[in-house]
Formats: sequence, structure tokens, C-alpha cells
Amino acid sequence: MARPVAFVTGGASGIGLATVERLADDGFHVAVADRNSVPSGELASCADRVSVHVADVRDRAAIAAAMAAYPEIAALVCVAGIYQPRRFEEISEGDFELMLDVNLLGVFRAVQEVLPRMPAGGRIVTVSSRAAIGGTNFAHYVASKAGVIGLTRAMAMEFRDRRIAVNSVAPGFTDTPMTRAMPADQYKIAQSLEPGGAAADPADIAGAIAFLANPATKFITGQTLFVDGGKSLGGLGV
Ligand code: NAP
Repeated sequence: MARPVAFVTGGASGIGLATVERLADDGFHVAVADRNSVPSGELASCADRVSVHVADVRDRAAIAAAMAAYPEIAALVCVAGIYQPRRFEEISEGDFELMLDVNLLGVFRAVQEVLPRMPAGGRIVTVSSRAAIGGTNFAHYVASKAGVIGLTRAMAMEFRDRRIAVNSVAPGFTDTPMTRAMPADQYKIAQSLEPGGAAADPADIAGAIAFLANPATKFITGQTLFVDGGKSLGGLGV
């Protein structure tokens, strides 16, 4: 396989799907690992540059088996994640454990499995969230994404002598099946609170991921790039 391989978890939907398309256009052969297969009709334009593996990031053996198809993996992008709106008092320990298992340990497992296959110059991109800086009614999600940022920084330090860069992209509110699962009135309200009154397009997030996954992007590691139209800047201006 002449093209370098990029392995994308959660690549069957939303931000992950847009990332797969973008990385295939950027010259990678893209391995998709998602608990679902890619919906038929999607990725038709790059089908010759994409391989799909059904694998759950909670299942280390399944992730390892998917990676075993590739002697070398140049880039790993950890997009797989879940979201659950729930008031603090209503979050059960089971809810919290599941959130961490997918959103945080899912990243940890994929990175541990990829390392033996990732040469110097490799790139790891995690997907955290603007929510890592705070949010109401999803504290377990906020905690999981703050954890992803901490893990990203720790891995960047530990892998820097191997010249493997590790960075995170923190999207703001983005138009994907995850957010479209919200009741329509809540989606509208959330959208109206974004700069410009619109959700991000998944391609906007994929562009930032592709920049950090590119071998030409050197000397950036341990960073979190907020892609949210500037909402995380806060401030008192209108
Ligand atoms: P999405 O459309 O639901 O896509 C996520 C994909 O990951 C889905 O195919 C999902 O499958 C899959 N997945 C979930 N759990 C998995 C597991 N255990 N193993 C393997 N695959 C799994 O969501 P998205 O909006 O594109 O979100 C992608 C990432 O961006 C997530 O980490 C999310 O937290 C983050 N993010 C999203 C937003 C936003 O506004 N959309 C904002 C900030 C951060 P199912 O459909 O079966 O769950």
C-alpha cells in the first residue's frame, strides 16, 4: 500500500466521516474503525482509499485486530465518542463509567495499540470538546473531555523524543447526527447561541484535524485547537 495509513475511530458518522473524506483527499489510505459500518452511499467518492472495520473502542482486541491489517500507521485520529444530556443529580455511576470508558479509555486503548505500528514522525489527534472548559447538564461528558486534553498533553510529553506529535481538536457545537439527536427546539436554541447563529460544519472540524494529522505539520505537540468560531474566547463584547 503506497499511501500512508491514517486510522480513524468513530469514522462512520459526523465529524469522523468528514475526517475520513478529508484525509483520503490529503493522500492517506484511511482505515475506519467504528462500532457501526459506514452508511451505504457515504464515502463513495473515495471508496478505493478507505477500508472499514467494525470495532468498538471499548474492545481492545477488536481495535488491535483492525490495526493488525497495517504494518505501519502514520496517523491515528480518535473521534469515537458518546454524549448524554443529564442533570448532575441524575447521572448514575454506570452513566459516568460508560462515558469515561468510551470517550477517555477509548483513546488510551487505541493509542497503546497503535504505538508499536507508528514510526517516528507519526501523528496522533484526539477529539476533545469545547465542553472541556465547562458546561451544564452533562458533567460526565465534560469530565471525559477534560480528561482527553490532559491525556493528550501527557502523551505528547512522553512521545516527543520519538517524534510522535499528539494534539487535540476541541470542536464547538457541530451539525452531526450526535447533535441532531437533540429535540429540534433544543438544537435551535443551541445553534442560536453560537457565533453567527450557526453550528459548525463537520468539514470545518475535519480541516483542523487534517492539519494536525499531516506529516508536514511539524513542531506542534501537546496543543488543543479550539474550533468553535471563537465562542470559547468569552469576553464581554457582543
Ligand atoms: P456522531 O455523529 O455520533 O459520530 C460518532 C461516531 O462514533 C458514531 O458513529 C458513533 O456510533 C461512534 N461511536 C460511539 N461509541 C463508539 C464506540 N464505543 N466504539 C466505536 N465507535 C463509537 O458524533 P459527532 O458529533 O461526529 O462526534 C464526534 C466526536 O466529536 C465525539 O468524540 C464528540 O464527543 C466530539 N464532539 C462533538 C461535538 C458536536 O457538537 N457534534 C462537539 C464537540 C465534540 P453511534 O452512532 O452508534 O454512537
